[in-house]
Amino acid sequence: MTLNINKIRDDFPILKTLINSNPLVYLDNAATTQKPQSVIDAITDYYTRYNSNVHRGAHHLSNLATDAHENARKTVQKYINAEYDHEIVFTSGTTESINLVAFSFGEAFVNPGDEIIVTEMDHHSNFVPWQMLCDRKRARFRVVPFNENGDIRLDILEEMLNEKTRLVAFNHVSNSLGTVNPAREIIKMAHDAGAAVLVDAAQSIQHIEHDVQALDADFYAFSGHKIYGPTGIGVLYGKEKWLDAIPPYKSGGEMIDLVSIEKTTYNKLPFKFEAGTPNIVGPIGMAAAIDYINALNFSDIMTYEDKILEYGRKRLLEIDGLTIYSNAKRRASILPFNIAGIHHFDLGTLLDSHGIAVRTGHHCTQPIMTALGIEGNVRASLAIYNTKEDIDALIEGIYKAMKLLGR
Ligand code: PMP
Repeated sequence: MTLNINKIRDDFPILKTLINSNPLVYLDNAATTQKPQSVIDAITDYYTRYNSNVHRGAHHLSNLATDAHENARKTVQKYINAEYDHEIVFTSGTTESINLVAFSFGEAFVNPGDEIIVTEMDHHSNFVPWQMLCDRKRARFRVVPFNENGDIRLDILEEMLNEKTRLVAFNHVSNSLGTVNPAREIIKMAHDAGAAVLVDAAQSIQHIEHDVQALDADFYAFSGHKIYGPTGIGVLYGKEKWLDAIPPYKSGGEMIDLVSIEKTTYNKLPFKFEAGTPNIVGPIGMAAAIDYINALNFSDIMTYEDKILEYGRKRLLEIDGLTIYSNAKRRASILPFNIAGIHHFDLGTLLDSHGIAVRTGHHCTQPIMTALGIEGNVRASLAIYNTKEDIDALIEGIYKAMKLLGR
C-alpha cells in the first residue's frame, strides 16, 4: 500500500491557503504541524455536544466528556505501546512533561554529587530543566557531545556513565540536526550503569518507530501539536514503578485522595500528576490525530517521508555555497542549511514572500549552534503532506532570493 498524498493534502484545509497569491508551502512542521479536518471536527464536536468537566459530574454530559477523555488516554497508550493506560499522564506538552520529571524525579532521587547526563543536541526543553535541577541539588550536569556528522559520541557517553549517574535524557530525533539517535542502545547503556532514562520524543513520535516497551524507556515525552493534534496538550509516559516512586509536581484538586488539616494523601495514577481541571478537549483532539495516523500505514509514512527528505537533501546540495547541517548516519524530517553570504533571517523572509514557510534562527538549540560555529540557520521540516513539489518550490524560492541578494 502506498499513501494517497493528494487525499492526505485534501484532509488538511489550511494547505489551500494562498500567501501573497502563492500557494502555501508549509515546511515548518518541526515547530508545529497542521491539523486534519477530523481533528478540527473532534474539537468542535466536543464544544458543540458535550462540553463538561471530567471525573466529577454525576450527569450525562460529564460522563460523555470523561469517557472521551479517558478513551483518549487508551488511544495514546496503544499508539506508544505502553503496558497500562495509567502510565499516560496528560501535560501541556513536551516541555511540561520534562519539567515534571526533572522536578519530581529530582526530588526523590537526585542528591548532591549525583550526575545527570544530557546531550549537546538536546532542545532547550530537555537541557535547561536538568541544568536547573543540578543547580538546585548541587548535582553535576554533564553533556555528551556529537561528532562532525551530528552523531552522538557513544564512546564519551560510555565513559561518562558511572554509579553516580541518576538519569540520562536525550532526544530520539534532533529538531535541529535531524539525527535519529540510537535510542535502544543509549537506553541499554544507561540501564547497565543503573541510570533511568527520559526520551524526548517530540520530533520522533510522528516520524519513526515509537514503542516505549521495545525501547525500555523509563520516561517518554511528546506534544500533541507536533503530531497533527492541538496545542496545549502533551504526554508524559512513565513506567508505573517510576510514577509510583516520585512525588506530585503540581498540587490542588483532582490529584488528592484524602485531605485533612493534618495530612493529604494522593490520588492513584495517573491523576496524582494531573492537578486541577485538565485540558479536556486537548486529549480528545490528540486522539483524533492519532486515529488519523493509525488509519494510514505507519511504515508507508516512514518510507514516504524518507523519500521526500532525501530528495530535499539532494536538491539543496545542488545549490552553490549551500551547507547542510544534517549528516548523521540516520536522519528524519529535518533539512537545516545556510547559504554562504546570506543571513538565514533574510533568506527566511524572502521565502515567506513566496508563500514558503520555514523557520530561521537557533531552533531552541543554542549549544548545537555553538558547536557548529554558527548563530543560526534555515530549517525546512517535513510532514506527511509534503511533496516533491514543495521541495521544488523551496529550491526555486532559494534561487530567486539568491538572485535578489546578488548571489
Ligand atoms: N524537544 C524537541 C526535540 C522539540 O523539537 C520541541 C519543540 N520544538 C520540544 C522539545 C518542546 O516541545 P513543546 O514546545 O511542544 O513543549
